[in-house]
Amino acid sequence: MTDLKSLIREVPDFPKPGINFFDITTLLKDPEGWKATIDALKARYEGIQVDVVVGIEARGFFFAPAIAYALGAGFVPVRKPGKLPAETETVEYALEYGTDKLQVHKDAIQPGMKVLIIDDVLATGGTASAVAQLIERLGGQVLGLGFLIELDFLNGKTKLEGREVYSVLHY
Ligand code: AMP
Repeated sequence: MTDLKSLIREVPDFPKPGINFFDITTLLKDPEGWKATIDALKARYEGIQVDVVVGIEARGFFFAPAIAYALGAGFVPVRKPGKLPAETETVEYALEYGTDKLQVHKDAIQPGMKVLIIDDVLATGGTASAVAQLIERLGGQVLGLGFLIELDFLNGKTKLEGREVYSVLHY
């Protein structure tokens, strides 16, 4: 099996001092690593009926469409404010300093739809938790949340308690 961790570049003090940034662009460009990543996420959810895979802007967009394709599901983007043209539902969530917002098209999620949420990194869990709430507000059923990387020391899982969480790699 491809050593995926060896394909991920860690950049200290980016985008600000004290943050160890996990740069997955070095994995994306590696044919074997990229395939192994999508295969690992596909294997986790294969056999479960998934209607749509939700990707979180921006780096979730690298993974979610490929997983949706592999599972035979649709893809729904969750975007930063002001990017989606039709009627949107918005969720606001706390950051270390201040708040942030994410949006989804209201008609992208129908009541009862089975939804998988995908992002690159699970850090504090604030983003993923907010997106799960956003999907549920529209009546979607969140089957699980999948990540390439989980930063165990930040305990993001506590914000996702009771939810099905899967990460390919743990740090
Ligand atoms: P959080 O809401 O704290 O779980 O942060 C998750 C979001 O921030 C994800 O969309 C990641 O892309 C990004 N992120 C947080 N920490 C890192 C990190 N150390 N390296 C790369 N991306 C990160």
